[in-house]
Amino acid sequence: MPYHQFSIHLPQRDYRSLTELLMLRGCLGTINEPAALIAYFPHVIDPKDVTRELEIWKALMQNQARDYLFHYEYSAIPDTDWNASWKRRFQPIDIGSRFTIMPPWEVVDGNRIPLIIDPGMAFGTGHHETTRSCLLLMEQYAVVVRNDSFLDLGTGTGLLAIAAHKMGFRRVTGLDTDPLALEAARRNLELNNVEGILLSKGSLTAESGCFDMIAANLVSGTLVAIAGEIAACLDPYGVAILSGILHGQEKDVLAAAEDFGLRLERQIRDGKWMALAVKH
Ligand code: SAH
Repeated sequence: MPYHQFSIHLPQRDYRSLTELLMLRGCLGTINEPAALIAYFPHVIDPKDVTRELEIWKALMQNQARDYLFHYEYSAIPDTDWNASWKRRFQPIDIGSRFTIMPPWEVVDGNRIPLIIDPGMAFGTGHHETTRSCLLLMEQYAVVVRNDSFLDLGTGTGLLAIAAHKMGFRRVTGLDTDPLALEAARRNLELNNVEGILLSKGSLTAESGCFDMIAANLVSGTLVAIAGEIAACLDPYGVAILSGILHGQEKDVLAAAEDFGLRLERQIRDGKWMALAVKH
């Protein structure tokens, strides 16, 4: 299948907001490059609709600041190029003391534990700061909490669920609202020869069960909105790892968590991203 690619040049501080907007318009994924935000769309989307959206963005931003830098190029990519460009970009990456995340076409090597991830169309290749921070905190807390049940809330590629399984959690659940993410996660469970992880569509509700560790790499607004459900589903001695928080927004997320009796245990910063570990 061919894809539409837009290379959008704009200030890096706006990559995330524009990405969120494009995701609502059917964008499959973006790659943040220093000089441009690269956004991919499926062939069924009319690129003129994307162009219209980008022109509205440009008009709004230039209305606020006349020197706002914004331009973009469009190209249609045949399927083969799409695959090749993903492959070029996904190199193995070491995280924490134990794990190496690698794409399926790399050869497993060394003493580290491989997490094999075919990015498919879902977020979570381990190259993002928010995923890395989650994994680091998971490693730190896996030796503190009971290794029974783990919830990966917003599982994406399934990477954190697979890591939890390899850390020794016995009952691992991955939830995602996006069916494409669940498809990618299923493929990655197979690639890692992992069985017994429960993947299911949807979000967290107070009835989802009780977990020793919850990893939620979402966005601040969602974390604030579902702080109550996270608290309700966290074991009294468990830990919840909240990630996907832009630096500066951690206070809002923490305040929401505290409203439901959670308190801050540890926080880490990676670039402009924060991750929090909270407990009852
Ligand atoms: N866990 C992966 C992926 C995080 S991306 C990692 O850490 O890299 C966030 C994922 O959460 C996306 O796949 C998105 O579809 C999903 N998501 C967003 N809001 C959600 C919600 N309220 N409930 C469940 N999944 C959600």
